[in-house]
Amino acid sequence: MMEVKDAFSVDVYRDLHRAFVEFQNRAEKLSTAYEAMQQDFKNVNIELDRKNAQLAGSLAQKEEVQTYLNSILESMDNGVIGVNTAGEITHFNKAAGIITGYNAEKVMGRPYTEIFITQESRGSTLLKTLQSGCELLRDERVLWHKDGHPVPVSYQTAILKDGNGRKLGAVEIFSDISRLKAMEREMQQNRTMAALGEMSATVAHEIRNPLGAMGVWAGLLERDLEPKDSRRKTLNKITEGLSRLNKIVSNLLVYTRPVTTEFRKLELGALLEEIVDFTEIEIERLGVNIKVDKKLKDAENLFVLADPEKMSQAIMNVCLNAVQAMNDGGTLAVSFEKGKKERGFSAFTISDTGCGMESEVLEKIFDPFFTTKENGTGLGLAIVKKIVESHSGHIDVNSSSGNGTSVKIFLPYLKD
Ligand code: ADP
Ligand code: MG
Repeated sequence: MMEVKDAFSVDVYRDLHRAFVEFQNRAEKLSTAYEAMQQDFKNVNIELDRKNAQLAGSLAQKEEVQTYLNSILESMDNGVIGVNTAGEITHFNKAAGIITGYNAEKVMGRPYTEIFITQESRGSTLLKTLQSGCELLRDERVLWHKDGHPVPVSYQTAILKDGNGRKLGAVEIFSDISRLKAMEREMQQNRTMAALGEMSATVAHEIRNPLGAMGVWAGLLERDLEPKDSRRKTLNKITEGLSRLNKIVSNLLVYTRPVTTEFRKLELGALLEEIVDFTEIEIERLGVNIKVDKKLKDAENLFVLADPEKMSQAIMNVCLNAVQAMNDGGTLAVSFEKGKKERGFSAFTISDTGCGMESEVLEKIFDPFFTTKENGTGLGLAIVKKIVESHSGHIDVNSSSGNGTSVKIFLPYLKD
C-alpha cells in the first residue's frame, strides 16, 4: 500500500513538476509578451506625443498665417468683401467699412443683396461673378454709401476656390476713386477754360483796333456838333457803349493774359484799408445805404508777399460784388481775425448782407463770363481767382440765397 502510494506520489509529483515547468515556461513567455507589449505601448505613446506636437506646431503655424493674412487684409486701402456660395458676407475688411460706411460686425453673415443690391442700378457685380463664374477685371462703378451718397469706385471681382477647385464663394476688391474723379473733372474744366481763354484773347485783340477807331471817330463827330445840338444825346449813348465795350475787352485781356506778378512785402492791414476807402467812395457815388464795418486792427503789422496792383484789383472786385449785391442797403464787413493763420495762410473775409446766391449760382461764380447781372461781364471773380492763385492763395465762398455772402481769401503768411 505504501509502494502504491509512493508510486502514485512519484507520478503525481512528476506530473506536477512537468505542469509547473510548463506553467513557468508559459508564464515567462507571457511576461516577455507583456514586456514587449508594454514596450510597444510606450513606443505608440511616444509616436502619439510626437504627432501631437507636430499637429500643434502646424496648427500654430496655420493660425499665424491666418493672422498674418488678416492683418494684411485689414491694413489694405482697398475694400475687400467676400461672400460664400449662398451669397452671404464672409469677409468685410476695415477699408470696406470706411468706403461703404457699414460696420463689419453688422454685415457679417448677412446676404450681400440685403445690404447692397437695392442701391445698385446695374445689379450686384459680385453676385454676377458668383453665379456666372465670370471674373471682372478693373472696371468702374458707383457704390452707394450707407448715408445714401454715391462713391465712385474702381473694382475687380474673383471666384474663390479651395485646393481641389471647388467653388467657395466670390470676392470683390474695390478702391475709392472720388478724389481721382474730382481731379479729372477739374482737369476737364481747366482744359475748357484754357481753350476759352485762348479764343477770347484773339477776339479781344481783334475787337480792340476797330473799337479804338470808333472812339476816335466819335470824338471827331462830337467836335463838329454844336453844344446844344440834340444829337449829342445819341452820341453820348454811343460813347457810353464804347467805353463799356472797352472795359469788357480790357477785363478779357486781364483774364486771358498770364498774370505777371511783381511781389512785394505788403502790410495786409494797409492794403485792406485802402480798398475799403475806395469802396466807400463807390458806395457814395451809387447813393446806396451801405454801412461799412472794418475789423482790421489785427491785420496791422501782418505781412504778405503780393503784387499791390493785382491784389488790390482782386480785393476790389470782391468788394464791388458785395456792394452790387446790396441794392437795398446793408452792411459790408471787411475783417481779419487774429490767430487765424490757418496752416501757413493769413485769411481775411469780405462779407455782405446782400441777396446771397442759390447753390447753382455759387457753383459757377468763378467761371469766366458767368454773370447774373444785366450789365455784368462775368469776369470779376474769374480774375480774382486767377490773381489769388498766382499768389499761391485760395478762396472760400459761403453764401445762401437771401442771407448774404462771405468771401474768405487766404494768402501765404510771410514771417516778418
Ligand atoms: P459780374 O459781377 O460781372 O456778374 P463776377 O465774376 O464778379 O461777375 O460775379 C459772377 C456772379 O457771381 C455775379 O453775377 C453774381 O451772380 C454772383 N456773385 C458774386 N459775388 C456776389 C455777392 N457778393 N453776392 C451775391 N452774388 C454774388
Ligand atoms: Mg463782379
